[in-house]
Amino acid sequence: MRIRDARIVATAVTPAGFPVDGLPEVAFLGRSNAGKSSLLNALVGRRELARVSGTPGKTRALHWFRVERLDAADRASVLCFVDLPGYGFARVAKSERAAWQRLVESYLDGRAPLRAAVLVQDVRRDATDDELDLVAWLAEREVPVLVAATKADKLKHGAREARVVALREAYGRRARVIATSAVTKLGVDALWELIAGFTEGA
Ligand code: GDP
Repeated sequence: MRIRDARIVATAVTPAGFPVDGLPEVAFLGRSNAGKSSLLNALVGRRELARVSGTPGKTRALHWFRVERLDAADRASVLCFVDLPGYGFARVAKSERAAWQRLVESYLDGRAPLRAAVLVQDVRRDATDDELDLVAWLAEREVPVLVAATKADKLKHGAREARVVALREAYGRRARVIATSAVTKLGVDALWELIAGFTEGA
């Protein structure tokens, strides 16, 4: 996948700030520190498009990245990656968690340009109730979900495959699970192919 251009085009902390240009969107969600920023950077081949945060849970905004890619025949297409704020971080107070949920749900529920959601989670961890609930919630709304099981370079092949099988069992038909690594780039092209499949014709 060749990327011609990738840049941040909008940031919003309330629904009033959500852009209205109608480009197809793919939302990225995940607990803080799961590797979401690193995966976004790997997908667009930029080192610092999304900030790899040293302070998990700090950002409370949605960010829109406009991405222009070229296919094998040099045809360009444009989509937006929407980086949703991280959640599930222990230090976050209950009230803040509720605010996160309201903001994220106000985006995910009925967002017309939304084509798919990528849930980012560490391949070594089991799905939490939060993650299972979120995927069920998205499935109810018919938003296709891809689970990027990140940091796959941290496991040897056999252990990694076993973890992917466990995650596939946990999510069942509600999500596709792909092992990814921002370090070795494992799974990055495969994830792009799936994303392209959901946003094609844009
Ligand atoms: P975010 O909070 O979900 O955006 O996560 P970050 O992208 O900031 O990553 C959290 C930490 O995990 C950072 O120290 C990253 O360097 C590390 N990390 C992220 N992805 C990978 C990966 O694929 N492999 C390895 N080994 N480390 C990763």
